[in-house]
Amino acid sequence: MGKIISAIARDGACACKCIDSTDIVYRAEQIHQTSAVVTAALGRLLTAASLMGVSFKGDNDSLTLRLSGGGPSGSVIAVSDSRGNVRGYPENPVVEIPLNSYGKLDVAGAVGRKGSLYVMKDTGTKEPYIGHTPIVSGEIAEDITHYYAMSEQIPTVCALGVLVDTDLTVISAGGFIVQLLPGAPDETIDRLEKTINALPSVTSLLKDGAAPEQLAALVLEGFEPEIVGEFPVEYRCSCTRGRVERALLSMGRNELKKLARQQRTTEVDCHFCPKEYRFNREEILALAK
Ligand code: ZN
Repeated sequence: MGKIISAIARDGACACKCIDSTDIVYRAEQIHQTSAVVTAALGRLLTAASLMGVSFKGDNDSLTLRLSGGGPSGSVIAVSDSRGNVRGYPENPVVEIPLNSYGKLDVAGAVGRKGSLYVMKDTGTKEPYIGHTPIVSGEIAEDITHYYAMSEQIPTVCALGVLVDTDLTVISAGGFIVQLLPGAPDETIDRLEKTINALPSVTSLLKDGAAPEQLAALVLEGFEPEIVGEFPVEYRCSCTRGRVERALLSMGRNELKKLARQQRTTEVDCHFCPKEYRFNREEILALAK
């Protein structure tokens, strides 16, 4: 089980959310059989979605991140429910490219830098909120920071990391989002950046056994942080047969009839989890009615 800790500075200048998403990203790799660089890309996006979705108010609210950068991984999608439980998938799970110039998995190379980060918030209003900002780095954390600066005018520092083993399983994954709160003194962001730039990477802290509480203490060092929330989070798919039926209905009557003529059984795979739904000819025809 993963965990998010939310903490706030004693003076109310800034707040952070920190996550250990190792179990989430481990599960994502097992489901999608991603190559190392795609595990890192999908894992970072899932980690960000969980951090961004956990604070939603309504039980049925959800947040979707779609990163479409024109790279070989295709679009990468991550969806969070209002409790920070996430699911996601890459269009192309296997990308083999050389390490980047720092000797690290080349997430930006896999995702691509020509495109946008889309943020969709469904909070039960008639039209969901959709914001998008151009991709600035393709490494994802900077793209999230840029999104908050441009679309929501919230000064933000974000870090995301996924460490993949040589056997392609996930060793550690996690991240944090720190944001200024209204009325924060001007020097707050400089102080935060100074502290955060001096920290080891999130993945190495987690690998060495740091819990999200300790991440929060390190990230907000000097701000006397107080922990105000703790949320268990996991990889969780919300697919049901009813939802698949609704997706089939959206194909329209003629397409469904064609489908029933063409095949005895129609199989629909969930994009997010290993579940497979089967419909026989009669069931498809019943939907067509
Ligand atoms: Zn599913």
